[in-house]
Amino acid sequence: MTTQTSLFDVFQVIDPRFRALVNTMAPLERIATGYTWTEGPVWFGDHQMLLFSEIPSNRVLRWQPGLGVSTFRAPADFTNGNTRDRQGRLISCHHGTRSVTRTEPDGARTVLADRHKGRRLNSPNDVVVKSDGSIWFTDPSYGIISNLEGYRAPQEQDGHFVYRLNPETGELAAVITDFTQPNGLAFSPDESRLYVAESGSSHDPSCPAVIRAFDLDSAGHLSGGAALVTVDCGLPDGFRVDSAGNIWTSAGDGVQCFAPDGTLLGKILMPERASNLCFGGPRGHDLFITATSSVYRIFVDITGAPSAGAQPAGT
Ligand code: MG
Repeated sequence: MTTQTSLFDVFQVIDPRFRALVNTMAPLERIATGYTWTEGPVWFGDHQMLLFSEIPSNRVLRWQPGLGVSTFRAPADFTNGNTRDRQGRLISCHHGTRSVTRTEPDGARTVLADRHKGRRLNSPNDVVVKSDGSIWFTDPSYGIISNLEGYRAPQEQDGHFVYRLNPETGELAAVITDFTQPNGLAFSPDESRLYVAESGSSHDPSCPAVIRAFDLDSAGHLSGGAALVTVDCGLPDGFRVDSAGNIWTSAGDGVQCFAPDGTLLGKILMPERASNLCFGGPRGHDLFITATSSVYRIFVDITGAPSAGAQPAGT
């Protein structure tokens, strides 16, 4: 049974386990609207603010409870995904400069990576930081195949890779090289697995709309990579993992939640296509969802996994 909270049923319970993760009476709130394609939500508990990217208008915006939306950065080099490192610093992917940057406490930006093997990256899309400080990001081509979300330009890399960056040394390694378009990524709570979304069906309908699971050993070696999650509407873009290891992913009909074994538990049905999400709010129980023209907030009865970049230590 679902609860009518709006013009449509927000929660779709598919597996009874989903009931423990949500409160079906919780309303879906639209907290910001009027945009074209929102992305990259990240919560700053120490500032009680949400940052999100508005890619086509080349801005990063700030939302604060009771205060609404203000501009954080504009122009923003077509920022897409955002997260925080273990020191709480903002880490961002940029289509415009085809780079990954770190924003220092004084607001200055440091370019962490913009080239691999001497050639420009494609257009870094989403990013996560592991507990050892390494920065993992995806590099599909969305920001260089059109002027909508960046600058159309030739691709210089041999493919669309997932990279691991050592921010201390600058060493950049292509660790996964067989995606059509890698997109969102996150670690399991114990960091023994890396999940990466395949969004290649955006341009190739034959490409499966899946999140693949890679095993990560203590030496940092990846193996496996089979599809774990299949999204049954649209495609997976950004996603997060909660503290129990469940995977909450964007999809064409809103947010879809999967158990660690890949079983679809339930959905948060939304009026717009979702692009990404993050956990946050005063107690960590708010799920912030960027979805096309708007940003939404909804209460969930679980918090994000710290290792998934949802809630850096101390915030
Ligand atoms: Mg993305």
